[in-house]
Formats: sequence, structure tokens, C-alpha cells
Amino acid sequence: MEKYGLLINYDYCTGCHTCEIACQQEHDYPVGKNGIKLTEYTYENHTKLCIDNLPFPTELCDLCLNRHQQGELPACVKHCQAQCMSFGQLSELVKQMEIQSRTVLYSPK
Ligand code: SF4
Ligand code: SF4
Repeated sequence: MEKYGLLINYDYCTGCHTCEIACQQEHDYPVGKNGIKLTEYTYENHTKLCIDNLPFPTELCDLCLNRHQQGELPACVKHCQAQCMSFGQLSELVKQMEIQSRTVLYSPK
């Protein structure tokens, strides 16, 4: 059976935290419990200060199974205004990875 996953192109992530909040609201998680968590990395590149925002699903992420069964996108994907998250079959997401840079692919157990 084909597996599904999330592809995150963090090059375009603005660090807005909307995915975290959308996930918490969808699953009714309390403060401190997250299906996806944003981490900010700060580093210097040739004296230029750079910030990368890397949202990554936690072990609580079930890819919004209930929403998927109703034909809806995962809450985080739907609400990401930067549109840097994609949901789909792993085989299709891997093809997207081949033409994008700075991406991470997540697949649950
Ligand atoms: S909603 Fe999108 S832009 Fe905002 S933090 Fe999450 S992945 Fe980044
Ligand atoms: S796919 Fe659903 S469960 Fe997974 S991080 Fe996104 S909103 Fe949370």
C-alpha cells in the first residue's frame, strides 16, 4: 500500500508558527503538546547572519488521518500561507524533492 508523507520546503518558511497552531487546534492539543514544532537556526555565512526556520512533525503527527479520509488537506498544509508544505504519496513527494532545494520529507510509522 502506498505510503503518504509531508514535504516541507523550509527555504520559504517564514517562521510564522501557523502550522503549529493549526495542528493544535485540529487535534485539541493543550499548550506544550505539538504535532509539529518549529525550530529556528541562526548562523553566519560569509559574515552574513542567516536564519533558517525548520518546522518538523513530531511523533504525534498522524498526517491528519481523519481529514484525509474526508478528502481534506492536513490542517498544517491548508493553513501555511507560505505554501511551503505539501501532502501526498511518498513517491510523488520524492519527485518534488528532486527539483526543489532545502526540503525535508516526513513519513510516520
Ligand atoms: S505555517 Fe508555513 S510558513 Fe508558517 S511556520 Fe509553518 S511551515 Fe513555516
Ligand atoms: S499533518 Fe496534521 S497531525 Fe501532522 S503536523 Fe500537520 S496538522 Fe499536525
